Amino acid sequence: MQDLLYEGKAKKIYREGEGLVRQRFKDIATAFNGEKKATVVGKAALNARFCALFFELLEKEALPTHFVSFDPPDSLITLELKMIPLEVVVRNRVAGSLSKRFPAEDKKSLEPPVVEYFLKNDAQNDPKVEEDLLVSLFHYDKKELLELRSFALKVNEILGFFVQTKGVDLIDLKLEFGRSPDGSILLGDEISPDTCRFWDVETGESLDKDRFRFEKGDLIEGYQKLATRLGLGGS
Ligand code: UDP
Repeated sequence: MQDLLYEGKAKKIYREGEGLVRQRFKDIATAFNGEKKATVVGKAALNARFCALFFELLEKEALPTHFVSFDPPDSLITLELKMIPLEVVVRNRVAGSLSKRFPAEDKKSLEPPVVEYFLKNDAQNDPKVEEDLLVSLFHYDKKELLELRSFALKVNEILGFFVQTKGVDLIDLKLEFGRSPDGSILLGDEISPDTCRFWDVETGESLDKDRFRFEKGDLIEGYQKLATRLGLGGS
């Protein structure tokens, strides 16, 4: 019996050894802070493979991440981090909650990309928070926020370029960071179509969790299309 450390909406985290954890993805889709929820067979294995692909790509580009290895079918072995309770969102186009704020601008390009912060707080529905408030109210270090911002923009650039070569647009993405025992900042959590918007360059079709959020088509079919595009094979 493995030692369960934490159960989130989309994965379970187990202790794996000294300084290591196992992130085991679940065959569950949730949206709107857990209000909408369904079992989706095959999603866990697909998301674990997307994460392995994306984290390996970032590591190759010398960005420090928590990724250690992929343990098929549905797990990643990662470094145990002390997580920073922030969602760092990078946007290349207007979509999602931003197009609710500015409906007329839906799908418009954002140049340069926009970085936004959201506090990780389910009870308050992950409220958006400005950089100044993070410093003055929540005592974040300004230099560290700059580090997070430039890290997030690099991830966006590398991932965006990679998927673009496969005919896919990276619309936006959400990242989470943590500290390793020596205090350095590493990219943690997951990078998958649960946490990024991916649109087909030609047709604009969503190949991400918006299929589930807004009934835009079968989720697994979209994730498999994305996997094929990115060279991961069908299923
Ligand atoms: N996102 C996420 N988890 C969240 C909220 C957002 O992974 O709790 C991702 C979402 O998939 C999208 C990006 O962050 O790729 C921007 O999301 P947005 O702020 O537009 O909110 P949403 O439309 O998801 O409510």
